[in-house]
Amino acid sequence: MTYKSTTPPLCRYCGGPIAKHTTCLFFGRSKGSVSGHDFVERPASIDEVRKFTNHKVTSVRRSGTAADGSSWVLSANVWDGESYVDEFFCNGVHARAMGVKAAKMGYRMPAYDRAALRQKEETT
Ligand SMILES: [Zn+2]
Repeated sequence: MTYKSTTPPLCRYCGGPIAKHTTCLFFGRSKGSVSGHDFVERPASIDEVRKFTNHKVTSVRRSGTAADGSSWVLSANVWDGESYVDEFFCNGVHARAMGVKAAKMGYRMPAYDRAALRQKEETT
């Protein structure tokens, strides 16, 4: 679930930064397979990649060097400047660890209370 914010979110468990949610653009595709994030063009540099997007280029993957000495950007990850992979946690392990701590502190959801009540009524 993408979270949008102008303030970078921090993990509620470890305090670490939460990863940016990026989109991957692919270059050098054949015309028949071009879709929304695919391009036929073969940009030679990050500056050329920027002509295809108004988002920030966070990383690129280059092709190998062709026989004629040329190479190009195969793919580029771009970021809209406000999207992150999650609002609260840097990964699922930290989300689970936070859930365990919350449960140990007595936090629970209403479904638990209803189930515990049913269980108590069935056993008495
Ligand atoms: Zn974390």
